[in-house]
Amino acid sequence: EPDPTLRPEPRPEDFDRALRPQVLDDFIGQAEARANLRVFIESARRRGEAMDHALFHGPPGLGKTTLAQIMARELGVNFRMTSGPVLAKAGDLAAILTNLEARDVLFIDEIHRLNPVVEEVLYPALEDFELDLVIGEGPAARTVRIELQPFTLVGATTRLGLLTTPLRDRFGIPTRLQFYTVEELHEIVTRNAQKLGAPTATEGALEIARRARGTPRIAGRLLRRVLDFAVVEGDGRITRELADMALTRLGVDHLGLDGADRRYLGLMAEHYGGGPVGIETLSAALSESRDALEEVIEPFLLQQGLIQRTPRGRMLGPSAWAHLGLAAPRPPGQ
Ligand code: ADP
Repeated sequence: EPDPTLRPEPRPEDFDRALRPQVLDDFIGQAEARANLRVFIESARRRGEAMDHALFHGPPGLGKTTLAQIMARELGVNFRMTSGPVLAKAGDLAAILTNLEARDVLFIDEIHRLNPVVEEVLYPALEDFELDLVIGEGPAARTVRIELQPFTLVGATTRLGLLTTPLRDRFGIPTRLQFYTVEELHEIVTRNAQKLGAPTATEGALEIARRARGTPRIAGRLLRRVLDFAVVEGDGRITRELADMALTRLGVDHLGLDGADRRYLGLMAEHYGGGPVGIETLSAALSESRDALEEVIEPFLLQQGLIQRTPRGRMLGPSAWAHLGLAAPRPPGQ
């Protein structure tokens, strides 16, 4: 069984907090998004207006929440946080919106999971900073209009494709977050090691960076686990050898793949000749939800070219066969 702490599952808040960058200058990577945000933040500040609504999309653990918090701090406003599934009723959203102060940042995580009724209430709030609430029931029901303070919504989603078009169209600043390069993760691991007071060799930090699946949250978790091994089974220092030993013990291979990734690739190779295989078939065979496959496992495998998406389903890429130590089958007719 893979260690569940290695997966970027819903945020264990206090765990991450110590390592979260606080200002835009400390946020490593995402150069393009960062440069643009800097302009939009500065412009909103100079004009004294709420910044336009922003939508951050990309796989979990890439820094969507962190960026939203940094935005609020740099704008000098309050940060309010909620999530799509938590907002069950229109009233839940209304209560939050009516408590916002001028120019505040409201962060809605998993915004693709908003209840459609709640989403309807959000539209006029986003466009005109107005709420239309229905009070009472039946023939006595009436609509009241409530003026809101101008605010900035930051929506985050791992599944851009599940957002309705009208909601998507209301974000003036759509931003895609990318997987991080090994160099960027190396810098993040090095800084985090300093914050944790963990003596770390350059090569030790690099080994963790290489095996962090392009994801800062995973890099942070791996660093903490490797540090545990260094303290208990080493001399407290994170060297390349120590990192390699610890990561191998944790089931993280040289590409950063864990047990769930390897199960996915192994199933495709051994049972489906490398595909194409439909996502529903894979989901059933692996006993993983389709969402987990599409949001957590597949994006990195796709980015690494280990799998490809075709109209007929997923296929193994040539490098996946090599990684599994198997020979790729010849295409028919060759
Ligand atoms: P998301 O909201 O996309 O799931 P988070 O913003 O919660 O991701 O980030 C996950 C963890 O990774 C946090 O602990 C955060 O401190 C760290 N992190 C994310 N992006 C960066 C970055 N660019 N530099 C340093 N640490 C980062």
